[in-house]
Amino acid sequence: MSVEKIGNRTASVALDCRAEQGKHFINAAWHPSSGGQRIEVRSPADGGVIGAIARGTADDIDLAVAAADLAFNGEWGAFSATQRGRLLLALSDRILQDVERLAWIEAADTGKPISLARNDIRILARYFEYYGGAADKIGGHVIPFEQGYSVVSVREPHGVTAHIIPWNYPAQMLGRSVAPALAMGNAAVVKPAEDACLTSLEIAILASEVGFPAGVFNVVTGYGEEAGAALSAHPGIRYISFTGSPQVGTLVQQAAAANYVPTALELGGKSPQLVFADADLERAADSVVKGITQNAGQTCSAGSRVLVERTIFDRFLALLAKRFLALRVGIPLDDPDVGPLINATQKERVLQAMNQAQEEGIPIVARTELSPSLPEAGHFVAPTVFGPVDHDHSLAQDEIFGPVLVAIPFENEEDAIAIANGTDFGLVASVWTCNGDRQARLSKRIRCGQFFINCYGAGGGVELPFGGSGKSGHGREKGWVALEELSTIKTVVHFHG
Ligand code: NAD
Repeated sequence: MSVEKIGNRTASVALDCRAEQGKHFINAAWHPSSGGQRIEVRSPADGGVIGAIARGTADDIDLAVAAADLAFNGEWGAFSATQRGRLLLALSDRILQDVERLAWIEAADTGKPISLARNDIRILARYFEYYGGAADKIGGHVIPFEQGYSVVSVREPHGVTAHIIPWNYPAQMLGRSVAPALAMGNAAVVKPAEDACLTSLEIAILASEVGFPAGVFNVVTGYGEEAGAALSAHPGIRYISFTGSPQVGTLVQQAAAANYVPTALELGGKSPQLVFADADLERAADSVVKGITQNAGQTCSAGSRVLVERTIFDRFLALLAKRFLALRVGIPLDDPDVGPLINATQKERVLQAMNQAQEEGIPIVARTELSPSLPEAGHFVAPTVFGPVDHDHSLAQDEIFGPVLVAIPFENEEDAIAIANGTDFGLVASVWTCNGDRQARLSKRIRCGQFFINCYGAGGGVELPFGGSGKSGHGREKGWVALEELSTIKTVVHFHG
């Protein structure tokens, strides 16, 4: 597709969207909102209008759930696991043929650097590849029981599954949530975030083209409190996968509880990276900077706290400062290190947290300079490192969801563990040390769902089970375990004498 700059250095590109403007994709057809309303889609990089999505209503959700239910109890329900797997693999191939087009749509919609968007689309394809290959390799068990009986436990899909997707990695999150659901034979209703719907609609078209029956992959767009709330409370839903804020996670879980529906909640984090004096400090500094600036810090598993052994605190912060000062902040088209935040509200939230910290006298270690040529209406925020920060301070406790790193000194291993575990979250952690015994001890004692040793992985890693505890949520996505989450077990007892 052609990519052109419009005007003088704006973020706009000529997008090649195939989805019909302002419509949902339900039962393999385009539907306007039953309320007749649309929501403008604006570029986070320059504020320009790049499209329109439908403002979904409870009636639209009813239509999508009914379509999914019909598919589940009809044509789709009759597919073998191998047939389902082949369709997922075909979708993966189809996405890979379209990486460039989809990446530009994703970059324009979210503001992320184009190379990050390309990577996200490849990971999206990888989800369908991984779960396509796995679809016919997960089975049940034969259970030894009393004489005269044969007992098996078999895996069955839940039925119609709901997928409420956030705006930070919309394409990746779609793959992470929907691919294992379809591999297990569920039929999906997706509600992407109002700020980033475009790739979900494009993927739904491709799914239909490679042969998924109508009603298996539905996308209803709109606001969370309207379409999202209607979906999570819908009695036809049998399982909910939600990724987003802890506050909304609680609402979704309450709605699900009323219908006795299981949920997986992937919420936020305040993930620590622990740097000990014996670590390879240059490598650690590279990784720590990437861990908080990737996607402008809008990553649930962002390494937003760096805990540094007191004896090397100043030395390590100097390494971080050098890297922060060299970062390039810019528009997707220029493929910078850091793009804009998703919207004005998010920018305001991040700036407010930083301003408050400054007013309270928390030192700034380094702040990236923003070029005056950035589009004025773009939601750019200068990546910043604060330190030393008291670990009880709100800056070190609350998820900021922006390119803001908090540096906290620690005295020894016990102190480091206490600080690492001292938030309401428990998502990801890493330790940087050459001491093998310490690596093993910390891996056991730090509360998190993923633990990295001398590396860090925010996003990606389709094979690696992921999820948190506490305010980070519960349930596990990615890897083999997602197939178990997206299915249920039926025990069949046969008396034959
Ligand atoms: P959010 O929780 O409001 O939105 C996430 C999704 O939930 C969107 O699809 C939204 O439309 C939907 N939603 C909103 N209200 C709903 C409701 N009442 N019922 C059902 N669905 C609803 O998140 P946000 O406002 O877009 O971002 C705010 C904060 O959420 C961020 O600052 C960040 O801390 C967190 N967040 C976390 C992740 C993550 O990957 N863990 C992703 C995005 C945002």
